[in-house]
Amino acid sequence: MPGDLCPENDRCTLVPQMVTLTFDDAINIGNIDLYAEIFNKQRRNPNGCDIKGTFFVSHHYTNYSAVQNMHRLGHEIAAHSITHNDDESFWSDAGTEDWAREMAGSRLIIDKFSNITDNSVVGLRAPYLRVGGNRQFTMMEEQAFLYDSSITAPLRNPPLWPYTMYFKMPHRCHGNLQNCPTRSHAVWEMVMNELDRREDPTIDEDIAGCAMVDSCSNILSGDQFYNFLTHNFYRHFDQNRAPLGLFFHAAWLKNNPEYLDAFLYWVDEVLESHPEAYFITMTQVIQWIQNPVSVYSAKNYAPWQEKCSPGPRTNCLVANSCKLSTDELGGEAIRMHTCMRCPNKYPWLDDP
Ligand code: ZN
Repeated sequence: MPGDLCPENDRCTLVPQMVTLTFDDAINIGNIDLYAEIFNKQRRNPNGCDIKGTFFVSHHYTNYSAVQNMHRLGHEIAAHSITHNDDESFWSDAGTEDWAREMAGSRLIIDKFSNITDNSVVGLRAPYLRVGGNRQFTMMEEQAFLYDSSITAPLRNPPLWPYTMYFKMPHRCHGNLQNCPTRSHAVWEMVMNELDRREDPTIDEDIAGCAMVDSCSNILSGDQFYNFLTHNFYRHFDQNRAPLGLFFHAAWLKNNPEYLDAFLYWVDEVLESHPEAYFITMTQVIQWIQNPVSVYSAKNYAPWQEKCSPGPRTNCLVANSCKLSTDELGGEAIRMHTCMRCPNKYPWLDDP
């Protein structure tokens, strides 16, 4: 466990600083270019492999040919529901069966239409971070999901390492919108540490942290965003090297080119100046926790070399563009792109 290599509050110079970039919701024409710009094959971890991200994909309007390519490039695809039901309380109250239909159903659609056959869709994130308590986590055990990444931890120093739900959570459940599980579950929690968004971190100001980067509403300029990233990176790096999670919606970067520039500048700077820093997937973090290696051995650590730096796409250069509808959506016509055969109906809850 990380504790052996890195006692709380001790400087742990042997532990790699893992960074997880995640992006939520549909993957399609609105964000494919953005992802290609961030993961541009020039940005490499200290082991020479491309930096990687984790994508929590919701079904509606997702382009499964694009998902297939992201998976081919070594990014992690995870579930974020079929409907992304915008009645937020649905998720807090949903039964185990509803959770299974949404999340196992979403995984089924991803696997089938992105031709993912390696059982690598093992994580999920609840829409609106509306954690579904014991019912959600019971479903995860029954459906063999490995981890959840929906529970937020209040801003704290040092930040938290991911934990398992075998034991009591190491922090209080945040706010009244998160329905945290109360029983023991065989599931990893890739906890969302809130980030410190103080304009001046030297002033002891009582300002709440933020979990999703786009909810850090006080960030107004590229410079501010750069300072925010730098401060939070060292808050992890200089304390216990808990993995630093940066959780995005593509639109926030897309609509604010100034933030995107600041973000990419920061990523490049970290990669240039920190041989300890690895931008990897959620599953690669879990692999490290289960089998930790020092920064010196990280360069040759096999789980972090998988799909190291794939070349250009050679298959499915032109995907099928399936014009589909389903009674479940009142006959709305939707184009679904996939390298697999077109189904007869747009996949949905009753017929994933
Ligand atoms: Zn979402």
